[in-house]
Amino acid sequence: MLLPIITAPDRRLKVKSQPVAVVDYEVRRLLDDMVETMRAAPGIGLSAIQVGVAKRIVVVEVDENEPLASEEAAAQEKREPVRTTRYLVNPEITWTSDKVVFCEEGCLSLPDQYADIERPADVVVKFLDRDGKPQEMKATGMLSRCIQHELDHLDGVLLVDRLSAVRRHMILRKLAKARKQEQEPAVTA
Ligand SMILES: [Zn+2]
Repeated sequence: MLLPIITAPDRRLKVKSQPVAVVDYEVRRLLDDMVETMRAAPGIGLSAIQVGVAKRIVVVEVDENEPLASEEAAAQEKREPVRTTRYLVNPEITWTSDKVVFCEEGCLSLPDQYADIERPADVVVKFLDRDGKPQEMKATGMLSRCIQHELDHLDGVLLVDRLSAVRRHMILRKLAKARKQEQEPAVTA
């Protein structure tokens, strides 16, 4: 089932999401709906709060062989795309690399807005999978970037919160204006 995606500014996006007690049928159904919603958007990651559910749940689907643009030069050989759907329940970053990288990010809750964000290049994340089994994995490249972006959502942090106040307000004002225009019927003289 497709779920409506909340766009900023909206105070629900500032909420700190709560841990999931048990990965049951309801959680699995939400995970599946989130994947469907993410693909239709289309996007490469989605957190539950973006569809109005304040639970620590994230889905990610990126080409895991894709390096970040900044790493492109280092990746000389041609790689085959590997697209794996990742279901992360109660995800927690347990390690971050000292190396940091800049990468342009977008967000389904900030339509048509992009910004260069600096984050650790690699992370280790532990989580419960779709079956409720504890997992731990090291993520690099686009996967690492996407996981860090989605985990921010669980703490009510948007990518604009990582920008200067001036840029943040500029972007949020633009989005509020665009939404107002969308809702107001066009006036024809
Ligand atoms: Zn986002």
